[in-house]
Amino acid sequence: MATKKYVYKFTEGNGSMRELLGGKGANLAEMASLDLPVPMGFTITTEACNQYYADGEKINEEIMSQVQKNLTWLEKFMGKKLGDPKNPLLVSVRSGARASMPGMMDTILNLGINDEVAEAMAEASNNPRFVYDSYRRFVQMFSDVVMGLSKKRFEVIIDELKEEKGVKLDVELDADDMKTLTKKFKEFYKTEKGEEFPQDPPVQLERAIEAVFRSWNNERAIFYRKMNDIPSDWGTAVNVQSMVFGNMGTDCATGVCFTRNPSTGSNAYFYGEYLINAQGEDVVAGVRTPQQISKKGSQEWAKGMGISEKERKEKYPSLEESMPETFQALDDVRKKLEAHYHDMQDMEFTIQDRRLFMLQTRNGKRTAAAALKVAVDMVAEGLVSEDEALMMVEPKQLDDLLHPTFDAAALKAKQSDIIAKGLAASPGAGSGQVVFTATDAKAWAEEGKKVVLVRLETSPEDIEGMHVSQAIVTVRGGMTSHAAVVARGMGACCVSGCGDISVSEEKRQFTVNGETFKEGDVISVDGTTGCVYRGEIPTVPATISGNFKKFMDWADARRTLKIRTNADTPGDAARAVEFGAEGVGLVRTEHMFFNTPERIKAIRMLCVSRNSEQRAKALAELEPYQQEDFYGIFEAMKGRSVTIRLLDPPLHEFLPNLETAEGKAAAKEIAKDLGITLKDIAQAAAELHEFNPMMGHRGCRLDVTYPEIGAMQARAIINAAIDINKKHRNWKLVPEIMIPLVGEPKELEYVANIVKAEADKVIADRKAKLEYKVGTMIEIPRAALLSGEIAKTAEFYSFGTNDLTQMTFGFSRDDAGKFLGDYYDKHIYENDPFAHVDVAGVGQLIKMAVAAGKATRPDIHLGVCGEHGGDPASIEFFNEVGLNYVSCSPYRVPIARLAAAQAAIRLDRKNGVAAKVVKKVQAKKAAVKKAAAKKTAKKAAKK
Ligand code: ADP
Ligand code: MG
Ligand code: MG
Repeated sequence: MATKKYVYKFTEGNGSMRELLGGKGANLAEMASLDLPVPMGFTITTEACNQYYADGEKINEEIMSQVQKNLTWLEKFMGKKLGDPKNPLLVSVRSGARASMPGMMDTILNLGINDEVAEAMAEASNNPRFVYDSYRRFVQMFSDVVMGLSKKRFEVIIDELKEEKGVKLDVELDADDMKTLTKKFKEFYKTEKGEEFPQDPPVQLERAIEAVFRSWNNERAIFYRKMNDIPSDWGTAVNVQSMVFGNMGTDCATGVCFTRNPSTGSNAYFYGEYLINAQGEDVVAGVRTPQQISKKGSQEWAKGMGISEKERKEKYPSLEESMPETFQALDDVRKKLEAHYHDMQDMEFTIQDRRLFMLQTRNGKRTAAAALKVAVDMVAEGLVSEDEALMMVEPKQLDDLLHPTFDAAALKAKQSDIIAKGLAASPGAGSGQVVFTATDAKAWAEEGKKVVLVRLETSPEDIEGMHVSQAIVTVRGGMTSHAAVVARGMGACCVSGCGDISVSEEKRQFTVNGETFKEGDVISVDGTTGCVYRGEIPTVPATISGNFKKFMDWADARRTLKIRTNADTPGDAARAVEFGAEGVGLVRTEHMFFNTPERIKAIRMLCVSRNSEQRAKALAELEPYQQEDFYGIFEAMKGRSVTIRLLDPPLHEFLPNLETAEGKAAAKEIAKDLGITLKDIAQAAAELHEFNPMMGHRGCRLDVTYPEIGAMQARAIINAAIDINKKHRNWKLVPEIMIPLVGEPKELEYVANIVKAEADKVIADRKAKLEYKVGTMIEIPRAALLSGEIAKTAEFYSFGTNDLTQMTFGFSRDDAGKFLGDYYDKHIYENDPFAHVDVAGVGQLIKMAVAAGKATRPDIHLGVCGEHGGDPASIEFFNEVGLNYVSCSPYRVPIARLAAAQAAIRLDRKNGVAAKVVKKVQAKKAAVKKAAAKKTAKKAAKK
């Protein structure tokens, strides 16, 4: 049997192999194949990573032997040898998963250096500063990644030395200092680890590879995966790449750039940052202020920072000015890559002696606004089709644009409250209390506080704290700093490089222009302008306009699935219509009971009623409220379809809490009105108590016991519908009455008959004309199983996937959170079945129910009203099984519209072959027809 190929040279891979080579490896190979200047190397596959875990966290011999072979090849290719002092090969060992996870996993640079190699290199290069800078970096990275010795502890040693020397920046340290640092770092390593720093390059390499595999399961990588739905079994690839050096002197540099501005999507100038005489992550880590790539960008940046043109040119010249030829080469690469990938690229590069080397390219993370602008622009530029453009935007990301922005008037009035200005790193608006650590941010947020995280700079450990913050402010760092990149990725508002502020984490305060802000003080942050304000600023809801609207129009034209909303109030319904909802898929009748004291009292009267007389009285009180509510929703929906669900929760939920004074007072009043005693009420409460209310007396079971409840609701719906159609003659609303929690065809038939009898009576009494529909929810597995029978009565189905999921799994959605974590840890479940529909199980039930329902009633109307209705992955499934619509909360409507369009595109692509075949057949048929037509024409001519 042939052994598996675990290692691919950059010359063997290509961009389509990201599953095997990871995104970084696949794109390095792709760039190499485009003849771009990529330092040569090879990629150890994601399968090798999975094998490493399968073997109990060991790299097996087969993998190591393939690594060795490829290393030998690389040494030949480069004409250098790992560990050879005369001609040493140095490599980087870089992680790279299938999906980009910036900064989440680990990379080691300058591997292959040791005391002997360093000494020889220093002599040969005549540049000992560069050599020992590289060595000390290697010790630092190796210690961190392989041995878990935090980089920060080495930073302390650097800071001590800088203080001793009276300098501020790393670049001010000379060759001897670097040598000293290297020595100190190795000593520190020895005291901490009880062993010498490893001097044998092959050992360094093997341990580095292993550490990268291990980093796949470090805490922040796991968190990032959960947040972004990346499966844990994908594994990471490892890239071993020959080094190029940005830290050899002032003709060298390292940088990060984008084919378009990731914050705005603008293409006005070449956007990116670089640092002279630096290596690797220096730009992102914010150790020095990065310089801009293009002159225009540089001038804009200087303006924002209040730096004069003279100072800019002297201290912060653009790459375009400092190395014009290299700039040109980079600009060419930018154009080539964007045209090649048909998407905005995020690139990493290094310049050694003015020569450009490309180290990474990937589809760039961008803000939602930028994503839309890039998509719309690229279609206009003829670079991508509308379909491709639609696929470029992550549906979930649209959420960022639906959230409030600062109220323009309030913002204007607050001009005098601007305390600082930094870079507009990630747009959005946020107010909150200042905290200084990610840990505090998490703790305060858990207490329900809104926080703004203010830090010198952020690092990957801060990611959870950033996630819960309203906004993030950093003192250091540019537009490609960690804070900026991560914030843009998660749609959080961020201002970076806010240099006016000086932060003291210790004292838990920051000062700016002589004013001190303490932990807990409220500030506001505008990520769109970079301004930071004192105090809170009110916000206004978002609107869909401009690029957003254009893009959504394309999505609407492309999708076949309709999008409805779950709305319980006219306000929600109106909001959803603004966001593009085409109907209401679920009105929960009970939600409006809590709106006013009169309503809650009326429903409570119903709950404690001891006989039909009392119940009738309570229902008579409720009916006008219900009718008014339905009318309001019909009005807000302007004639669009509305599905109203009959009372669903167990009655116990509405009872006043007799333990509290408030509840007692409420109960007394009800008792008086109904002519019963408090004791009666306590008795009723005791009777309504259930051990497992979720599976108790609720849904249509209430109507089986108390048919008058369903009858009242039917009357209220029908009366409201007649009224609305009378008022708006052209609307012709057809209300849809939905019976919940059905498990048995006869049960549905019984309740449906009550509803229909009452509805027909109202219509007849009012001498009105009204069509209406009666349908059911499919949320109990038994209903899905008996769908063929159920469809005889039900004119429509709405899959209640929340209940269907909990009943299918047999665990409650309110409790599952407690133990699902263990299931993720043990890789039993990948993700929450309440968030993404479980295709294997619940999906099976849905498919069955659809098929059997359609067999009985071919025109049965099908939808979904669970939480899954707004989840893109689930929407893809619902589209595939042929539902007519999904219904979700108003804020998810735009997400669902885009997800439905993407689902339609994917389905077409999946069926692409079939579609082409059909086309061919049609073409043949057409040809035959044409020939026949010719014949008849000839015949006719003969005659
Ligand atoms: P991340 O995935 O966190 O971006 P990378 O593997 O891209 O980590 O490495 C970070 C940086 O290290 C790169 O952007 C690049 O500047 C530098 N780097 C990596 N490999 C090399 C190399 N072979 N030569 C020079 N610099 C390198
Ligand atoms: Mg990188
Ligand atoms: Mg339900």
